[in-house]
Amino acid sequence: MEHKDFEFEVPEGYKEAYHIDAKDKKTGIKMTLGALVIMIAVIVTLFVFADLKQFDFERIMVYDIVWIIVMLVYIVLHELVHGAVYKALTHQKLTFGITWSAAFCGVPDIYTYRRTALLSLVAPLTVFTIILLPLTIWLRFVDMGWYLVCGLVFAIHISGCIGDIYVTTLFLKKFRDPCTLMRDSGPAQWVYVPAEEPPVKPGEAADEG
Ligand SMILES: [Zn+2]
Repeated sequence: MEHKDFEFEVPEGYKEAYHIDAKDKKTGIKMTLGALVIMIAVIVTLFVFADLKQFDFERIMVYDIVWIIVMLVYIVLHELVHGAVYKALTHQKLTFGITWSAAFCGVPDIYTYRRTALLSLVAPLTVFTIILLPLTIWLRFVDMGWYLVCGLVFAIHISGCIGDIYVTTLFLKKFRDPCTLMRDSGPAQWVYVPAEEPPVKPGEAADEG
């Protein structure tokens, strides 16, 4: 039988197993703090490998303006890559937006299977890491200004992916059944699993959270 990418309704016998909402204050703050830690680590690394004697301070305005523009373009492209995967696999209506803590893309009217959810989750992380990381390393030996611009965009990218990385980790560690469904409204995700799964043994309950 051919695999399905999504369902229009939660099939009978499924139960909600997980819910995360970026609009939730606690979740938003946790994600923002996590992102900040990653960002600082990347920026420190960036400056460790920088040689500021080679930095052209007269062009600092140009570097700043380009950095801001590229960052805004990146945020849009990141969401479009999520959307492209969802669209290719489901052909359903997408939703895009921004909250105080994150930009988002979702496919709110359906329930995607684990494989579809995972492909959409990891797509921007993979695509932009493959582009930005080698480019940053190459620019280090070409122009110190563009190296820092590209590196700072990479820092925004990798730290901004924290929500995607978090939900991906959940699927890889906790929800490994291919029948697992996810509803992605954009800022919030719900995970559904078949209820007939063997009940959690007492010893495994410690894994929760
Ligand atoms: Zn994302």
